[in-house]
Formats: sequence, C-alpha cells, structure tokens
Amino acid sequence: MRIPFNRPFLVGKELYYIAQSVLSGHTAGDGMFTKKCHQLLQDKFGAKKVLLTHSCTAALEMAAILCGVTQGDEVILPSFTFVSTANAFYLRGAKLVFVDIRPDTLNIDETKIEQAVSEQTKIIAPVHYAGIACEMDKIMDVAQRKELLVVEDAAQGVNAKYHEKYLGTIGDIGAYSFHETKNFICGEGGAIVINNDQFIERAEIIREKGTNRSKFFRGEVDKYTWVDIGSSYLPSDILAAFLYAQLENMETINIRRAEIFSNYLVALKPLADEGRLQLPFIAQGCRSNNHMFYILLNDENTRNGLMDYLKSKGILAVFHYLPLHLSPIGRSFGYYDGDLPQTESISRRLLRLPFFYDLKQDEQDEIVECIYAYLKGKA
Ligand SMILES: *Cc1c(COP(=O)(O)O)cnc(C)c1O
Repeated sequence: MRIPFNRPFLVGKELYYIAQSVLSGHTAGDGMFTKKCHQLLQDKFGAKKVLLTHSCTAALEMAAILCGVTQGDEVILPSFTFVSTANAFYLRGAKLVFVDIRPDTLNIDETKIEQAVSEQTKIIAPVHYAGIACEMDKIMDVAQRKELLVVEDAAQGVNAKYHEKYLGTIGDIGAYSFHETKNFICGEGGAIVINNDQFIERAEIIREKGTNRSKFFRGEVDKYTWVDIGSSYLPSDILAAFLYAQLENMETINIRRAEIFSNYLVALKPLADEGRLQLPFIAQGCRSNNHMFYILLNDENTRNGLMDYLKSKGILAVFHYLPLHLSPIGRSFGYYDGDLPQTESISRRLLRLPFFYDLKQDEQDEIVECIYAYLKGKA
C-alpha cells in the first residue's frame, strides 16, 4: 500500500529515552520512565492513580478483577466495540448484556441502559468511540441509582474531554491504550486509571503478580509476599521510555491530528450535503482527541466498493467492528440478527480513512480525490 491505514511515528526523544532506559540498568517494569509516565498522566488528567499496563486489554482485565466480577454477574456494554471490552469480563465468568448505539456518535445509547439493568448487573462499561465522549452524566446517574460500578473503555479517548473532565477519570476505573494505532503510542501499551479510592491499593497488587512488591519498594513493608490473585500487567521501562517522549508531545500530536480531521471534514462536506455519506458528529460539551476519521456510506455495497477502489489505488481504508452480539461468543448469550439494529447497520456502512500523525497533505488530498471519483461515478 502506498498510503497505509496507520504508520507508527516518532515525535520527540523516543529513541534517546530508550537508550537512557537501557543504560540506566533498569529495563524491567516500574523504572524511571514508568514513574515519569504515571506522574505526567496523573497531573495532566487530574487522575487519582494511573498505572501503566502492557495494553488496554490488560487494564480492562485488571478492572474486571478489581470490581470483583464473578460467575453470573452481568456487565452492560455496547456490541459495537473491540473484543477486549467484552473479553475482560467474560474471562471472569460475566454474562454480557449488549446495548445498541446512538446513530450519531456511535456510542452506547444512554437512554437504553436502565432497561438493561437487572438484579445481577454489576458494571456498566461505556466505550468512548473515536475519542468522542459517551453521555457520562446520564450513565453515572443510572450507575448511582442502581449501585453499579462504571468502567470506562477510554482506549481511544486519551486526552479527550467530557465537559471539564478527561475521559477515563469519570467512572470508578478507566482504561487507556497506547497501541501503535492510537493517538499516543509505544507499540503495545496501556494504562489503568483508578478514580475510586477503594481500588488503589489492590490495583498495585494485582498488577504485580498478586504480591505487595510495590509497598516493599516504597519501604512500607520489609519483605514482599503473595497476598492476592494477580498477573504480570506491567510493561518494560523501555516501552515506557518511548511512551514518555510521546506524552511530552501530547499537544503537538493533538494539533496535527485536529488539522487532519478538519481537512477531511471540510473536503468531504459537499458529499455529505448531497446525501452520499455521513460525517462524524461531535456532541455538545465534548472535546475530541481526533482519534479517528470515519465516514458512513448509504449501504454495504457502496462501502465495500469504495474500500476496494481505494485499495486498487494503493490506499488502505478499513472497517470495524463486526458486532460482538453476532459473534459465536455473543450468540451463545442468546443474541440474534436484528437484535441491535443501529449496531448492525453502522457496522455494514462504516469506513475508516487513513489517519496518523505523519499523514502528508498530498496523501490526504489523494484520498479525498479518490472518494470523490468513486462516489461521483467517475471511477
Ligand atoms: C484499541 C482498543 C482496545 C484494546 O487496546 P490494546 O491496547 O490493544 O489492548 C480496547 N478497546 C477499544 C475500544 C480499543 O479501540
């Protein structure tokens, strides 16, 4: 592909910091750069506790353990999401209750959550799709009235806001991703954000193989031992070194991504006005982090045709998600075709355009031209 869907990028001192990490003699987890990342994220987002993990998937698994999910507990989540949102809870024996999305933001439809709550419901897990916030006031209100925990999948929402709050800092727990396809990257990486005091101490233990090693390193206990269930959820400090250079440049990355987003938006608006496609919608009171640029075509054939045409021109555009409720695991919970109409319709019509920090203006112009050529019937 001449224009890939994603291209990992350097923005600052990534390689220098990696060298520093290696030369420091501490490349395992929780070294100097991991601590710097924790501090920077806590300060910038006003979070009580942030701990790096090796992925957002790992952060979500930790969240499921912290919330005490067990066999038979129900978790409410969208079907239009990445498999990890669901798998983290499924691993602990939860029953998944899928709720449809809004046709404008493609986020979980907050008006449909309360009717999905049962005696067994333990958690609501909203996903901030494309870095655009879910209606968190409504979701937190249902959670408070029904005494549920809220785990935000903010994999795509790092540095985005809902009113005055950063995504991931609103529910009891948040999860971030630093995978190479996200806004701030280190190959594979993530973080868990703990906003509920009751989970802070246990989070450190679960992340360190069920030991109280973090307390030991702080000198709070004189030896460390096995105290709980857990796993190895911490990343190497080499990855944290790479990530720290990206986090130092969060605003630079944000500015460039906002530019790319708005270029697409302006260039494609005439096609939207003619009813040939639908453009992303940003709800009132949200600050997007410009994570993604997708278009919604009028039907599946047009979407697939455009995707193939772009591919023939050397441009990789991709779609997602196959609805989780219609996957083999989703169907095992009793879901059928037609159960979540918005999710099913959107998943057939959505196309994500190439979007990464280093995308060049002429590359973007070419992508737009090809979309015009195809949709205006000149291809
Ligand atoms: C990317 C993503 C994840 C998984 O992130 P990893 O860091 O790759 O584990 C989870 N949920 C959503 C919504 C994502 O977009």
